[in-house]
Amino acid sequence: MKRLFILLIFLLSACVSEPISIPTVKVAPSATRPAPIATAIPASPTLSPTETPIPCDPLVVDFCITDGHFVFQRPILPPNNDSVEETYRFASTASGTRESHHGVEFINGTGTPVHAAADGQIIFAGSDDEAVYSPWPNFYGNIIVIRHADSLFTLYAHLSLIDVQAGEEVQVGQKIGEVGLTGSANGSHLHFEVRRGDVEDYFSTLNPELWLIPKAGEGALAISVMNTRGKFQNVDFTLQFTDETYFVKTYEDASLTKNENAALGLKAGRYRIAFLFGGKIYERWVEVESGRLTQVVFVMQ
Ligand SMILES: [Zn+2]
Repeated sequence: MKRLFILLIFLLSACVSEPISIPTVKVAPSATRPAPIATAIPASPTLSPTETPIPCDPLVVDFCITDGHFVFQRPILPPNNDSVEETYRFASTASGTRESHHGVEFINGTGTPVHAAADGQIIFAGSDDEAVYSPWPNFYGNIIVIRHADSLFTLYAHLSLIDVQAGEEVQVGQKIGEVGLTGSANGSHLHFEVRRGDVEDYFSTLNPELWLIPKAGEGALAISVMNTRGKFQNVDFTLQFTDETYFVKTYEDASLTKNENAALGLKAGRYRIAFLFGGKIYERWVEVESGRLTQVVFVMQ
């Protein structure tokens, strides 16, 4: 009886000691955890001011927000219409009914002032008779081309009046001409382009919506839709913002695709991007911030 009692005590103490040993095992690593944190804290003030954080990678996160490269002021100023026309964006063919669009439109009446988008030098001001900057003679009518820093150029087409001459230096915001409908213009408007590199290459155009400073309270969204081999894919997608829905196509002219295959300026806020591809629905929620660029990459399996 006494032996049984001792055995029982032993077993009970064994049972009691067992759970105690578990927390000591658990505590051990957490007790060592503060050490690296303690060494990390004094390290941060010594970071060099030129050191940059790890860049956001849109391939592995839902979206990245960066400062973008919004270097151009709008060529049309309020109270005139300084919004990009939504029905014929960059690289649009209006569903195959129009020429591939190498720029954007600002719909305004003839005589509306046109302003330099940045400081620069006029490299061409006159008629597009020789098609140096366009696919065929007089496509753009009266045009102005300005050279800016970083191999960037802006082009202003269909003008009714030109105020400047080749060789002249201009300042950002300076009036350089007036809106018109010269050349192959479907109504009075300013056709505006951004080119980089070889300005005489009609395919050196970039989407102006990624280069124009967003309007107050707006940002820009750049979307890449590609397959696992990195080949851009064309889709029609919807962008939902509270009670508004935008219907957007990726660049219909794939030859104008460089880093993205859709881009547009949008009011700041939270958007749902959705499209159908290969019988599967793709969707993602992204943020657009005022004055900044949101980059989104879809890689379809
Ligand atoms: Zn145009």
